[in-house]
Amino acid sequence: MIIALDGPAASGKGTLARKIAARYDLPHLDTGLLYRATARALIDAGERLDNEARAIAAARGLGLTDFDEASLRGREMGEAASVVAAHPGVRAALLDLQRAFAARPGGAVLDGRDIGTVICPDADVKIFVTASAETRANRRALELKGRGEKVDYAEVLDDIRKRDARDAGRSSAPLVKADDAVLLDTTNLDIDGAFDAAMAIAEKKAARG
Ligand code: C5P
Repeated sequence: MIIALDGPAASGKGTLARKIAARYDLPHLDTGLLYRATARALIDAGERLDNEARAIAAARGLGLTDFDEASLRGREMGEAASVVAAHPGVRAALLDLQRAFAARPGGAVLDGRDIGTVICPDADVKIFVTASAETRANRRALELKGRGEKVDYAEVLDDIRKRDARDAGRSSAPLVKADDAVLLDTTNLDIDGAFDAAMAIAEKKAARG
């Protein structure tokens, strides 16, 4: 069973994807890490994020074990990731890796922006997870604070809005709900409530075959 979760930054899709993967005992890929790691590699090499050729080379050089999550999860790397993710060549370079992951025997859970639309258009279950920008900014601020980052709520909200606009406005694989994805708005749900709702969607789809 392939389960695709897409949605904007801090919508809760990552937490849900991890919990759903654990429930079904499936491998999970947080595809945002691929774009974050690509951005990190460029920055470490002193390259500009708008250098598409270098960004493609960095993306091609990634393996699934390259992720030092602590250095990738910060606020700056989310911004940088969304800049490199707008290069069509970078997206193309990361396609096979993601599809190979999804094709594992037994299936997989992937979360990102274009899983249901581009990476796994035939996924068995597609959920588009969203929440208001303010709620997402609150969650992201708490998460960053928990990691010891200095946090200004207004800046975090501004980041979220900028990232939404960039991810939804790019020409290559923009953030958009797949026609056959089920919308899950987590604005008024806690983690347990969102997980129950996501599992109900998955179980219903799985039962239909
Ligand atoms: O989900 P996360 O915040 O880690 O993603 C970082 C950035 O990577 C996103 O803002 C988006 O621009 C990009 N991304 C993408 N496609 C994906 C996953 C992430 O474009 N499947």
